[in-house]
Amino acid sequence: MAIIEDRRLTPAHGILGRDKDRFLSEENPFEAMMSRFDRAAELLDLDPGLVKVLRQPEKQIIVAVPVLKDDGSVDVYTGYRVLYNTSRGPAKGGIRFDTAVTLEEVKALAAWMTWKCAVVDIPFGGSKGGVNCDPEKMSLGELERMTRRYTAAIINTLGPDSDVPAPDVNTNERVMAWLMDTYSMHVGHTVTAVVTGKPVVMGGSLGRREATGRGCMIVTKEALNHLGLAVRNATVAVQGFGNVGSVAADLLSQEGCRIVAIGDRHVALYNADGIDVQKAIEHSRKHGSLKEFTGGDKMKPAELLTLDVDVLLPAALENVITTKNASQVRAKIICEGANGPTTAPADAILDEKGVFVIPDILANAGGVTVSYFEWVQNRGGYFWTEDLVNDRLRDIMCRSFANVLDIAKKHKVNMRTASYMLSVERVSTVHKLRGIYA
Ligand code: NAD
Repeated sequence: MAIIEDRRLTPAHGILGRDKDRFLSEENPFEAMMSRFDRAAELLDLDPGLVKVLRQPEKQIIVAVPVLKDDGSVDVYTGYRVLYNTSRGPAKGGIRFDTAVTLEEVKALAAWMTWKCAVVDIPFGGSKGGVNCDPEKMSLGELERMTRRYTAAIINTLGPDSDVPAPDVNTNERVMAWLMDTYSMHVGHTVTAVVTGKPVVMGGSLGRREATGRGCMIVTKEALNHLGLAVRNATVAVQGFGNVGSVAADLLSQEGCRIVAIGDRHVALYNADGIDVQKAIEHSRKHGSLKEFTGGDKMKPAELLTLDVDVLLPAALENVITTKNASQVRAKIICEGANGPTTAPADAILDEKGVFVIPDILANAGGVTVSYFEWVQNRGGYFWTEDLVNDRLRDIMCRSFANVLDIAKKHKVNMRTASYMLSVERVSTVHKLRGIYA
């Protein structure tokens, strides 16, 4: 119970649990996504029929996932897989294991994947999946059985040409390996391209594990340059110290930024001189969290979001910047490493304050970009060097940032609206060309 309490921060912290408060309009991630889509559709003067099509997920799957526990008892979890839109290619989207997973959240995440793939112009549609569970309370064996049973339950949607999962919150390379094996056993031969974010030794791509954080680092540098701010000594606060947050913090510190605050679900730490990110990563890896890390002073988790820094990098869960705290945000730049960290009504407050927001569908697109590279390498059976992966990632992130910035300037809109305009345009153009199958 203690762990669950820790995770479900109060509304004052911004992150809500799976209780009913989560679905107050401001906190509903699907509505947050939809309001941004509607604004872009209006500015693009999108055909009303197309708007109807793009407001609906293509496919929503809900499954029961029975798991035999180590003590011989049985637990049943609820699993989801949503394919939002596949007009531009196979669905692509991660799998999340968390107590806060709901259908609304998975729908929103699947839609964001659709727009994200379109922003960076890779030939995928968008999907997402998840199981409502608490992986911290499960043994490795239970986690494996749950992963395999969930995979079997959604097997008909999966495939390199139809729907390709990847890691997300609380899932990793090991989980992807089980998923790939389960799928391969069902179809009778090894299919590496059914999942990305696999271990490199079994067909994963070099650079994939770091890709999302690397992408965040690249666009943060672009934003600092755009605003005429120096990268060296730029101050950064990072919320979430998992795959995205820890890598982004590490790479930004390697670029000369000063990481003054970091935090995970247990603790938030501040050090005005700069946190030793490598040491924090070592500690977190060894102990499973930043608890007891002595490289910074403890502060209230909510304070991390309102620090006077150049860059705030939320890299945990949704809805951490809301109408309750947006007016107190003092960062010049917000780089949204997480999906949906800012609620739609908070956008307007940040705009008014002049905060430059690099929206999630652009900021964290590095992960899916290198997932695309992994899928390409698997299908071609020929693997790239890490330098080639990183160079191609940098090209795509810089080009996408520039494309979005151009639209923002041309239409006098913020970066979020510009990124939705770009992606919705790309998806709707393909829909128009394909027509409605009757
Ligand atoms: P992760 O499980 O590796 O890390 C999540 C981190 O957030 C952990 O450090 C955890 O302790 C922390 N956290 C959880 N609840 C918190 C809370 N209430 N307050 C503060 N910190 C909290 O997950 P990840 O893969 O790094 O994903 C983080 C975010 O980035 C998610 O929104 C995810 O959808 C998004 N994202 C991930 C990828 C990827 O490639 N992994 C790609 C794109 C977007």
